[in-house]
Amino acid sequence: MSATDELMAQAARYLANTYARFPIAPVKGSGVRVWDAEGKTYLDFAAGIAVDVLGHCHPKVVEAIRAQSETLLHVSNLYVIEPQVRLARALSEQSFGGKVFFCNSGAEANEAAIKLARRYATARWSSDRHEIVCMRDSFHGRTMATVTATGQPKYSQGFEPLLPGFKHIPFNDLAAAERAIDSRTCAVLVEPIQGEGGVRIPDDGYLPGLRQLCSEREVLLMLDEVQTGMGRTGRLFAYEHWSIQPDVMTLAKGLGGGLPIGAMIAKETVADAFVPGSHASTFGGNPFVTTVALTVLTEILDARLSDRAAKIGAYFLERLRQLATRYPFVKEARGRGLMLALELSVPAKPIVNRCLERGLLILIAGDQVLRFVPPLIIGEAEVDEAIHILDLTLAEEPR
Ligand SMILES: *Cc1c(COP(=O)(O)O)cnc(C)c1O
Repeated sequence: MSATDELMAQAARYLANTYARFPIAPVKGSGVRVWDAEGKTYLDFAAGIAVDVLGHCHPKVVEAIRAQSETLLHVSNLYVIEPQVRLARALSEQSFGGKVFFCNSGAEANEAAIKLARRYATARWSSDRHEIVCMRDSFHGRTMATVTATGQPKYSQGFEPLLPGFKHIPFNDLAAAERAIDSRTCAVLVEPIQGEGGVRIPDDGYLPGLRQLCSEREVLLMLDEVQTGMGRTGRLFAYEHWSIQPDVMTLAKGLGGGLPIGAMIAKETVADAFVPGSHASTFGGNPFVTTVALTVLTEILDARLSDRAAKIGAYFLERLRQLATRYPFVKEARGRGLMLALELSVPAKPIVNRCLERGLLILIAGDQVLRFVPPLIIGEAEVDEAIHILDLTLAEEPR
C-alpha cells in the first residue's frame, strides 16, 4: 500500500465524510506548484480554491509568519491589536472607506453582513424590514444563515428548517430585483461574478442598475467578494469593473494568502448599527492572521497583481477560447482576470481527474463547468503548460 493509499484509508476512518477527496496528498508547495507524498509535481490552477493568491510559500508571507510567530500570535479583541487596525485601515482606504469586522471565513463574513443588515434595519426602520434578497445559483457559505442565502437547494437539502426572511430571484435579472424588493427588504446580497454557481458574469447594466435600485429603495447592497476580491478578477475588488460601490462587502479566500481570515466591510453609517457586544469572534483578526493578511495585501498592491491578473487572464481566456473552437463539447470560455471557466456539454469531473493525473490541478463549478483560479503570480509559460495539458485531456473525450 502506498503512503497515499494508507492516508486515504485513515481519512475515511477518522475524518467526517464531508469531502470526495482526490487520491493525492499534497505535502509541499512553492510558487505555482505543489508536490504530493509520492513525489509527483502539479501545476496548481486551483490554488486552494482561489485562496493562494501569491502562490505557495511566498518568501514575504513566510517571513511575515516567522517574524510574527516570534512576536505575538493571539490576544483577545478585548484589547487593541495594531496589525488588525492597520489591515482595516488599508482595506478601508483601498475600497469605499468603510469600517471592518474581522472573522475567520467567508461564511462568517456573510453571516456578519446578514446580522448587520438586520440590526441596521431594526434600528433605522422597524423589525419587519428584515428580508434579504438573494440570487439563484449563488453561493455564500455553509452556516445555517449562509446556506439559506445560497440559491442552490443541494446545499441546504436536509438541513431544514432554514432561516426565515430570505428570498431568491434569478441572477442578472433587474426586473426580478425590482419586483422582489419591497417594504420588508433590508438588503440585497449578491456575488458580482458568481463563482461556485459557474463563473457567471452579469450584463454590464446589471450591477449599476441594482446599485441604483437599492439606493432608491433605501436597501443595502451587499456584495459577496469572498471569491472575486483581492485582485482575482483583474481589479482589487470586482465591483470596480462597474464603477459602483456597495454598502457592505465581504472578503475571505485570498485575503490571508492561505491563512484563515474573513472580513466584512460596511459604510460607516451602516457599520455603526453594531455596538460593543452586538457581534464578536474569538479568533477574528488576531495579530498573527492580520499581520500576514496585511503582507499579502501590500504585495498585491506593490507588485500590481490585479493588473497582472487582468493581463495574464486576458491571455489565458484567449487561449481557452481557441480550445473552445476546436472541441464541439466546449460550449463557452468565459471569466474575468484569473477567474476563468470552460462550460462543457459533458461532465466536468472526469476531465478534472484526468488533468490531475497529468499534473494539473483545476476545479469544477457546477457539473459541466471547469474552473481555473490560479495564483495571481502565474506567467504566460504556466498558462501555456496548463493549456497543453487541457488540450491533451479534451482530445480524449469522445466527440
Ligand atoms: C467560498 C465562498 C464562500 C464561503 O467561504 P468559506 O470560507 O468556505 O466559508 C462564500 N461566498 C463565496 C462567493 C465563496 O466563493
